[in-house]
Amino acid sequence: MGKTLRLILGDQLNSGHSWLKAADKNVVYVMMEVMQEQEYVMHHVQKMLAFFAAMRNFAHQLTKKGHRVIYIKLDDTDNAQTIEANIKRIIKHEDIERFEYQLPDEYRLDEQLKQICKKLKIETGSADTEHYFTTRYEVKEFFGDKYFLMENFYRHMRIKHQVLMQGSKPAGNKWNFDHENRKKYDGKSPLVPPVEFNHDVSELKKMIDIKKVKYFGEVDEKHFPWPLSRNEALKLMDYFCEHLLPHFGTYEDAMLQQHISLFHSRISFAQNSKMIAPHEVIGKVLSHYDKNKHEITLAQVEGYIRQVLGWREFMRGVYWAKMPEFASLNFFDHRDELPEWFWTGKTKMNCLSKCIGQSLNHAWAHHIQRLMVIGNFALLAGLNPDEVDAWYLGVYIDAIEWVEITNTRGMSQFADGGIIGSKPYVSSAAYINKMSDYCGNCHYDYKKKTGERACPYNSLYWNFFYRNAGKLEGNHRIGMMYNILKKMSSDDIDEINKQADIYLGIINEL
Ligand code: SF4
Repeated sequence: MGKTLRLILGDQLNSGHSWLKAADKNVVYVMMEVMQEQEYVMHHVQKMLAFFAAMRNFAHQLTKKGHRVIYIKLDDTDNAQTIEANIKRIIKHEDIERFEYQLPDEYRLDEQLKQICKKLKIETGSADTEHYFTTRYEVKEFFGDKYFLMENFYRHMRIKHQVLMQGSKPAGNKWNFDHENRKKYDGKSPLVPPVEFNHDVSELKKMIDIKKVKYFGEVDEKHFPWPLSRNEALKLMDYFCEHLLPHFGTYEDAMLQQHISLFHSRISFAQNSKMIAPHEVIGKVLSHYDKNKHEITLAQVEGYIRQVLGWREFMRGVYWAKMPEFASLNFFDHRDELPEWFWTGKTKMNCLSKCIGQSLNHAWAHHIQRLMVIGNFALLAGLNPDEVDAWYLGVYIDAIEWVEITNTRGMSQFADGGIIGSKPYVSSAAYINKMSDYCGNCHYDYKKKTGERACPYNSLYWNFFYRNAGKLEGNHRIGMMYNILKKMSSDDIDEINKQADIYLGIINEL
């Protein structure tokens, strides 16, 4: 039998994959660090280092198990820096007769690999990544022509996979405990430090600097905190179950200046690189809950399960149902550039300074910081969703397009016109003040709509509804906002719009 070459991408670190059950002398695996993947968007330095380090660990583990792995480092002299050129070279040198790859999670790479296969003069094939609960097109098939409603899909998943079910009924007789999961942090549950793994990644950092790879953000290269192996991913999940899960749901939307992650698991990088599978994450949460029902309520657990079994799978399904068109949707025709402080965190708006600063320093922020502080501002200010997407895709350690674009362009920016969310997720300062301790330390006054030091979110919020009335007034979920707007005097509306215009005119100085 001739030799087979199998490609494993950087986000396909699934050691439980059926490809890897037994070593086969006729199979060669290839993993590669290529400039192609560093340049399609500018990445945060921690994201780049985390992927390279985790890939190297994975290759090492495979080799230890007896698999033959060709690992191409970014600075290898024979690295041609594209997937296609490296594959062609190996096929020639190794006398390969068949090429296989795991289905990528990005449309861009999916198209590229299909093209590569067309050009190769040997047999080719693809395999599932064996990571998700769903197949690529399961969401599309589930809804058919109907509106993609996450809640319906989530219930279907709960039933199908018998998660938090009592017979045919949801545990606790309720599908969703979301309304119990919206508390500001009140100090009642003690905060614990996030678990950090303290890796030394200085050699890798040196390599990307020598190769002059463009990146942004900060890194402590001697104390790199992220899990870089499956064992560490499992440890992170155990820590979450033991210390954070009992309070996760209650405070999942809360934000604090002094504690960046509160009770969040920060498992997203390990999960999105497939070092740990969603069924394992859910299994750990459920088994911990079973043993500790005296201290963990159903609401905490359901909140977490909804994110993993519901949102995560749903977003991936929407991605494959709606790409490539999804990537260019711009419902509001927003065109403005990102303010300069997206790259520095230097703004007088304390919430944005903290959330962007945290993203630049740690390559991570939790879902409400991403959605209701940064994304909220971007939408209210009319920033171009192409630029917003590129920033989110670059800055977050867990950002791979299938999960980034659906959450950013769809959920956060409503650029899809309502495919993912039925209304735009926007708020004035009142919500940010309710859910965080940011406003107390801010240059701006969260109570003021106009005038000196009025919080920019307030005028931009009403201006957003005013300028988009033609597109949004008929949306029954936000009818209340238009009723309020109608009751405002024209002088008040003029003043708010004037204030919004002033702020948008000096956006870099805000
Ligand atoms: Fe953010 Fe406005 Fe609060 Fe300042 S006052 S922290 S800008 S919401």
